[in-house]
Amino acid sequence: MNKHPCTPPAPGDNIAALLTPALVVDLDAMQRNLQRMADFARQHRLRLRPHAKMHKCAAIAKLQIAAGAVGVCVQKLSEAEALAAAGITDLFISNEVIDPAKLTRVAELAGRVTLAIAVDSKLGVERLALAMQSAGSQIDVFVEVDVGQGRCGVAPTAAGALAQQVVAHASAGLRFAGLQAYHGRAQHLRSAAEREAAIHHAASLARAAQATVTAAGIHCPLVTGAGTGSFTFEAASGLWGELQAGSYLFMDRDYAENQPAPGAPVFEQALFIKSQVISRGEAHAVVDAGHKTYAIDSGLPTVWQRSDLTVTNGGDEHGILHPAPHASADVLPQLGDIVWLVPGHCDPTVNLHDHLVAVRGGLSDGVVETVWAVDARGCVS
Ligand code: PLP
Ligand code: MN
Repeated sequence: MNKHPCTPPAPGDNIAALLTPALVVDLDAMQRNLQRMADFARQHRLRLRPHAKMHKCAAIAKLQIAAGAVGVCVQKLSEAEALAAAGITDLFISNEVIDPAKLTRVAELAGRVTLAIAVDSKLGVERLALAMQSAGSQIDVFVEVDVGQGRCGVAPTAAGALAQQVVAHASAGLRFAGLQAYHGRAQHLRSAAEREAAIHHAASLARAAQATVTAAGIHCPLVTGAGTGSFTFEAASGLWGELQAGSYLFMDRDYAENQPAPGAPVFEQALFIKSQVISRGEAHAVVDAGHKTYAIDSGLPTVWQRSDLTVTNGGDEHGILHPAPHASADVLPQLGDIVWLVPGHCDPTVNLHDHLVAVRGGLSDGVVETVWAVDARGCVS
């Protein structure tokens, strides 16, 4: 790893020595989250394949696998390659790849690790088969079904025909592995009842898709999907056999605003931005973390456990703190004070950083236990 002035502190350093802004993981909270999801999957006899697009970090994927995950999902080929290079051996690209040059690399990767991929077109299957044929390796293929998001995926009625295409290319190394049924838009519907209704509808579409596969004389081994906002409902459906939730491990402000689902495990905030006040006005304070440090697609961060402070957009490198409407200016931090921010959205926030600083013993007096590289940072192709 290149040494540059932003190189984080070494294991054993007190958290106070960590220069700002920095992306920090509360290891105690993360490990409780990790265990709660692993326990949930085990109790419901479901496979867990967490989405690694969230942390993009092989060391964390290994912890998830050690706790019972069958492997991890990624969203992009380059992300799969980066995690494979760092030792992950079971990967599912839960997304479509259509470029023949990329599919050549998919086929090469399938020769080195256990690999799965999603498809939603005849052309995609044909190109995948062509690439796999010359590589001589095997790949698990999930037919993606659009279960309500209106993003990728075939209509439920078309799933059987596409599964037939996959089966027709068995000699090229394609194995029909089942259906991918993921409803992204359901994840942040605020009320648990709305999310339950969305997944109930998704289940009916996925069942219809499965019926077309069965009617084509093809066994459907698995339905995979689900995210942090909805996985209890997929689990209750009896249809999904594998959960792909990712954000549960770190959480973010957007997920914290969801009304919890009944009986769902509690996930704690484990991802933080350590920032520092670098300027003070009469009625505002400015921290050294802007949207080069945290993603703002899901809204601005909040200040951890400080409902008396609000954050407004200060641009690339600054965040502006104001007293909340009910609070006075006295609550504002002083110059040099440390301010812990909770990012609005964990996945794109992590992708802004080279390192995750993992701290044991809490934010106020913890110790850096390890520093993880964000191995697949920037791997968006
Ligand atoms: N599965 C797929 C296909 C996804 O795109 C995502 C996230 O966008 C997830 C699973 C994980 O969702 P979350 O991070 O909200 O738990
Ligand atoms: Mn996300």
